Amino acid sequence: MARFIIVGGVAGGATAAARLRRLDEKAEIIMFERGGYVSFANCGLPYYIGKIIPDRRRLFVQTPQGFRNRFNVDVRVNSEVVSINRTDTTVNVKNLATGETYREKYDRLILSPGAEPLRPPIPGINSDGIFTLRNISDTDSIYAFLNDKKPKSAVIVGGGFIGLEMAENISNLGIPVAIIEMADQVMANLDYEMAAEVHQHIRAKGVELLLKDGVKSFEIKNDMITTRLSSGRDITSGIVILSIGVRPDTSLAKEAGLRIGPRGGIAVNEYLQTSDPDIYAVGDAIEFANPITNQSVITYLAGPANRQGRLAADNIVSGNTKRYNGSIATAVMQVFDLTVASTGVPEKSLKADNIPHSASITHSASHATYYPGASQMSVKIIFSPDRGTLLGAQIIGHDGVDKRIDVLSAIIGMKGTIYNLLEFEQSYAPPFSSAKDPVTIAASVAENILNGLVNVIGWNEIQKLDPAKIVLLDVRTQKEYRAGAIEGSVNIPIDELRKNLGAIPKDKIIVTYCAVGQRAYIANRILKQNGFDTVYNLSGGYKTYSIVHQFADDTDEGLYL
Ligand code: FAD
Repeated sequence: MARFIIVGGVAGGATAAARLRRLDEKAEIIMFERGGYVSFANCGLPYYIGKIIPDRRRLFVQTPQGFRNRFNVDVRVNSEVVSINRTDTTVNVKNLATGETYREKYDRLILSPGAEPLRPPIPGINSDGIFTLRNISDTDSIYAFLNDKKPKSAVIVGGGFIGLEMAENISNLGIPVAIIEMADQVMANLDYEMAAEVHQHIRAKGVELLLKDGVKSFEIKNDMITTRLSSGRDITSGIVILSIGVRPDTSLAKEAGLRIGPRGGIAVNEYLQTSDPDIYAVGDAIEFANPITNQSVITYLAGPANRQGRLAADNIVSGNTKRYNGSIATAVMQVFDLTVASTGVPEKSLKADNIPHSASITHSASHATYYPGASQMSVKIIFSPDRGTLLGAQIIGHDGVDKRIDVLSAIIGMKGTIYNLLEFEQSYAPPFSSAKDPVTIAASVAENILNGLVNVIGWNEIQKLDPAKIVLLDVRTQKEYRAGAIEGSVNIPIDELRKNLGAIPKDKIIVTYCAVGQRAYIANRILKQNGFDTVYNLSGGYKTYSIVHQFADDTDEGLYL
């Protein structure tokens, strides 16, 4: 009878344990969990703190006893695996309730220890009222603190997924929130201009957002925490949530001499086997090649952790038959009323790695505009300039963002192109979409770029052009132009363009723009076919430009093409 031991009893670990049992009814399976709970909903923790999930019990997908009953797995909570003895294939386990340490033998071991929140040595960081959020015990502490101390304001340090979810949930409790982020944007998975939309929304919700600022120290006085910033500013609040990132929990693996990858995660092969063939590893603690860039990355997402848990179990039972192909980091999150999603690689990473790419930004309606309730969504797609292979996508909107990102994820996952995306047949009825769906529109624009029908220029690139050598041509209506336009631009509304071609110099670079790009594209085609050689369309139009520059622009427009 085989003996399988699993370290970590949440996403990857619990999935692996259940799958092992489904494949091998006879095996002895022991799952060790350092905390007091297994198989809980990490992703639901911020929403319990924000009282969106009112019942704490709903956070537990399975209890240790439930797991034992259903899967006949020997679940041992409050039990930390403190070392691995690879030569005699045993683990040393510390019972955290009694302090007793003992050994257990394994035939195969699966590590799923997750990731731990960063707590840099900032003065005052270990004071009362400063929390990180990883597990149920952190959740209980934050929940109790909010209820007992009733803080009047909160500081969130870090604008990543957990930081923004906590900002939303604490803000929804009626507590004013300030977010401090060291980078110039929140959500590292987004490109700057897409993140700028999130910045605008967070601020509109009354959250103070401080970018490009870091914490120097924390000081406590009369139950209030003063967060001192590098900029010299001090912010005083009743609670601080630190969410400045996580790192793979690799202490056990390192001490056992398992190979660690360049990113600091446990190195595994395509079967999720570590450098020791008897030990597999899954989840937030591992690193693996990104299928797009081929570079080693750590993916801190629940979907991949669950998939890896299942694959590791399959490979253990059936002898390495299933390959793991890596994660393209498809993610979605709610930021107040916005849905923010991404998949694949952001443009900034491709730029940094000198990987050739093109990008386009489109703003489309979530469903037919004649059917009530349509809202705009911003879609950025990034693709290779030769074959049009889709490399990444980011979408921000209110409705239907999750469906669109999953379509793009499916195409990217299959190494598909924007032509595959154009052929992708989507369901349509007016309440759900348009006959030209936002992703089809994005693909159509990409096709126009690839076949040279239109050249696009980014909001950040026009700033680099010599103003003496360009004409910024705004083709919106005069009314729209008067409400706000790019400095130095001239206005010739699209419907008057053909009559006014003589007024446009042919020896200059023409950059056309409108609200979102559709009219500018038509202008582009008119100009190109009338002897204007160097014409660009501003990608994402005035909407993207103005958001980046933090102008208000609520102009809506119809669809592309
Ligand atoms: P975990 O699920 O963290 O499990 C690791 C477990 O191992 C821990 O319980 C730990 O106590 C235990 N352990 C570690 N070392 C030992 C040891 N030596 N002995 C015994 N036990 C040990 N992902 C998404 O995709 N979408 C989301 O919306 C989302 N929201 C999140 C919100 C929060 C607040 C958090 C914290 C995470 C969120 N995630 C989300 C990330 C997701 O939860 C993780 O990617 C996933 O849980 C990773 O699975 P894992 O098995 O690697 O680690």
